[in-house]
Amino acid sequence: MTKLGNNMYKLVSREARSAPTLIRIGETIIGSGYFTVMAGPCSVESETQIFSIAKSVSAAGATVLRGGAFKPRTSPYEFQGLGKEGLCYLRAAANEYGLLAVSEVMDTADLSLVSNYVDIIQIGSRNMHNYSLLKQAGKINKPILLKRGLSATYHEWLMAAEYIMQAGNPNIILCERGIRTFETHTRNTLDLAAVPALHELTHLPVIVDPSHGTGLRSLVPSMAYAAFAVGAEGLMVEVHPYPDQSWSDAKQTISPEVFGLMMKRIRTMQSIFRDEHALPC
Ligand code: PEP
Ligand code: MN
Repeated sequence: MTKLGNNMYKLVSREARSAPTLIRIGETIIGSGYFTVMAGPCSVESETQIFSIAKSVSAAGATVLRGGAFKPRTSPYEFQGLGKEGLCYLRAAANEYGLLAVSEVMDTADLSLVSNYVDIIQIGSRNMHNYSLLKQAGKINKPILLKRGLSATYHEWLMAAEYIMQAGNPNIILCERGIRTFETHTRNTLDLAAVPALHELTHLPVIVDPSHGTGLRSLVPSMAYAAFAVGAEGLMVEVHPYPDQSWSDAKQTISPEVFGLMMKRIRTMQSIFRDEHALPC
């Protein structure tokens, strides 16, 4: 990789900065040496629903509450999210249970609204190539969770992060959420090689979303353990008290019980691998 040229990661590359980026939000640190679990429903559906999920995911050890208020749905006839009302419920539930909050923004017009309610702003897969949104996200003083585009290469994904950082925001978390392949059994193909590959290419933290990455709830815990094993700095997982009744992404959503068992096993892995994880392989 040369340092010159316009097709380079001038800011996000390992060459630009060898030390890993650590993102501090209050007491929480996201990045190398830490494992941050973000969990919650695909969509915020009601105050009762998000409070119940916040309670169970915080008890299980998650530190960030997720919940979509602006939903990118394939069909315009599907639930589009509660908008501002959903953000209010998400914030209140996160506060009640001492969690940070993350939610997606789809439009530059909603950036300041969303950033008023959350600690981390999610830019979803479908918007990874939305350069005006990326540039505006670079002007916000909140960390950005940048999901991989449905068919984006590492280069395109890192260049999207470069847009955000070039516009002034250095706090970016990359999220591998699966890509489109010829396989149809799973919703997407979770590319776990992205984690060690990106660790070679960039100083930014990388987390994994095994929910969108597989689309099937039975596969979520296994892929979460695998994500931990390949050195991810965290997870984003969809959880709902009645997974089959979720208003969006029901098939990939796990119950609080399964989430609790999964977290227990991750803690066991952490206790075994803590030292090894701190070492570069
Ligand atoms: C989501 O997190 O609910 C979501 C829509 O994710 P993605 O952008 O990865 O599809
Ligand atoms: Mn979802």
